[in-house]
Amino acid sequence: MSEVPDIRKNYIDVLNSVNKITEECGRKPGSVRLIAVSKTKPAEYIKEAMEAGAVDFGENKPQELAAKYEQVSGVRWHQIGHLQKNKVRHIIGKTALIHSLDSIELAKEIDKRAKAVGIVQDVLIQVNISGEESKFGINPENLPEMLESLKEFSNVNMTGLMTISVRGYSQDENRKLFSKLRELGSKYGLRELSMGMSHDYKEAIESGATMVRVGTSIFGERDYSLK
Ligand SMILES: *Cc1c(COP(=O)(O)O)cnc(C)c1O
Repeated sequence: MSEVPDIRKNYIDVLNSVNKITEECGRKPGSVRLIAVSKTKPAEYIKEAMEAGAVDFGENKPQELAAKYEQVSGVRWHQIGHLQKNKVRHIIGKTALIHSLDSIELAKEIDKRAKAVGIVQDVLIQVNISGEESKFGINPENLPEMLESLKEFSNVNMTGLMTISVRGYSQDENRKLFSKLRELGSKYGLRELSMGMSHDYKEAIESGATMVRVGTSIFGERDYSLK
């Protein structure tokens, strides 16, 4: 059995650290939102983090998000993992923000489902900056075309960009990668930048992140063998 983490303490520690880094690099206090990534963890863990003040939670799998949506109320849910077209129906109306828009076909499906329930869905475009490792996210070169195409979808509201760094990157390499996302964001006037995880959120905040997605440092290691 793995040890039960002190989630309330962990959440507060990470939140304090996020705020401290934000101030130390001269950014406005409160300008970085902490998203607690609860994938594979039970609803009880989410409730504990909420007791410490957490509101934003991220999930990878649409069905898991939908199940937890039923179990815990008062959460702002974030779909941070890859989203297949045929899974959109599970999360529409339940997700504050989809971080992983990576194709026009997916945007079309989100638009259709959002229209059907009378909402406008906030989304971020996932960009694969490094061109390495990650299978997901669009090539930065395709961003202008993507932005143009999104204009036709009135129920999709694109507010920014998301990226995932590369396992094994140094702090400097992470800073470079995250800075590229920020440059893309400012070039196209996009406000939100979702970047940074447990091991690299410091570099992400220093590079302009407006949202960081932290799982392990709050909820402990994930055990995929149980699934
Ligand atoms: C799992 C995951 C995270 C959180 O990762 P940790 O290393 O546990 O903090 C963040 N973003 C995405 C897209 C993830 O899949």
